[in-house]
Amino acid sequence: MQEETIAAIATAPGGGIGVVRVSGPQALEVAARVVRPWPAAPESHRMWRAQAAGDEILCVVMRAPGSYTGEDVVELHGHGSALGLRALLAALVDSGARVAEPGEFTRRAFLSGRMDLSRAEAVAQVIGARTEQALRAAQANLRGATATAVSRARERVVSLLAEVEAQVDFPEEQLDFAPAAALAAQAHATAAALDRLCASWRRGRLLGAGLTVALVGRPNVGKSSLLNALVGQERALVTETPGTTRDYVEVAMDWDGVPVTLIDTAGEREATSAVERRGVELGRRRAAEADVAILVVDASAPALDDVRAHVVALNKIDLAPEQPALTTALPVVPTSALERTGLAALRAAVLAVAGLSGDDQAGEPILASERQQAALREAQAALVQAASALADGAPPELAAMDLRVALDRLGRVTGESVDQAVLDAVFARFCIGK
Ligand code: GDP
Repeated sequence: MQEETIAAIATAPGGGIGVVRVSGPQALEVAARVVRPWPAAPESHRMWRAQAAGDEILCVVMRAPGSYTGEDVVELHGHGSALGLRALLAALVDSGARVAEPGEFTRRAFLSGRMDLSRAEAVAQVIGARTEQALRAAQANLRGATATAVSRARERVVSLLAEVEAQVDFPEEQLDFAPAAALAAQAHATAAALDRLCASWRRGRLLGAGLTVALVGRPNVGKSSLLNALVGQERALVTETPGTTRDYVEVAMDWDGVPVTLIDTAGEREATSAVERRGVELGRRRAAEADVAILVVDASAPALDDVRAHVVALNKIDLAPEQPALTTALPVVPTSALERTGLAALRAAVLAVAGLSGDDQAGEPILASERQQAALREAQAALVQAASALADGAPPELAAMDLRVALDRLGRVTGESVDQAVLDAVFARFCIGK
């Protein structure tokens, strides 16, 4: 149980209302010094109207363990004024609370057993989600999709370990031990399940960070026109107008629920000023780092340049009497920015290249962090090693050691085996008040 009582503004600035949250053993005492009236015995989960720090508020008490953190919590719902909320927070701090660190409420929820670590990470994922698909993946994890998959693997490893340890403890007693081959097969099957889970990180990473897609190619092939056509079809989430005229353009979009940043580089256009040259250079670098590069080729004068690309857009197809044949192993999508054809196929090709097409992984959990993936990879490797030890007829102690490593790594995802440093790193990614 935590000693200190913490407080923070829990809502983003600019809303109609704002919430200040207090959590910890003294939450009620601290709030009672600030909130008027304070009922003699406030009922849990029931709001009342009150005054606090000059603001008119609604106050609610949520008693342990039935709160977000699992501790006693008081929420003060005030007007959305940043100054007013800061005054409320200051009054609570004057009355004995400490300002919470980023993610500290969620960290307490984890420490009090309200949620496992993968659900806690999902909270940050939900808040950061930029598209529906990202949000759906995050919400599934909040409901325990990853936790359930990991627990299932854990149960299988625990029962394997029990079998193997029995062979260590009672080697001479020929009880009806499961044959080593069967145990090895079980270890392999569990490793395979973890492998599938790890593979989801590619998707999870892209859903979180978004997919950057660059349009590259010679001048005048229609890169800017394609960007405009793609933007015209889709709702543009944010438009970043470059500071100078001819450097590069970035547009954030939502392609089938995937956050996509489309980058059009100035390419070979002439940059006269130093500022413009810097802009062009920046654009090139962004394009070089993009997850997917679309090489735009003019179908009326097709020429394949030797540049890093993943998809070819055979643009201006309206000018070509028939589709020219290109010698390339890359997927080729005929498009016309002018007539707005082939755009959906181009988007689909890009998503397919990124491994994000369709709902091919529907229902499967999607990992939320590199950290989870790294832990599961180690668990998987330990299981594969245990499987070969078993299959090779090595002493059961060896397989038992590997299985214990696998258990430890699985526990890093759900939080049974993590230290302070890991928790610090996980919760540092949170915002204050969460
Ligand atoms: P960029 O230099 O690669 O960005 O090329 P632009 O987008 O500026 O286009 C160069 C020229 O090609 C412009 O005159 C466009 O109107 C034209 N253009 C672009 N896409 C198409 C297309 O699909 N069909 C036709 N007929 N013209 C196009």
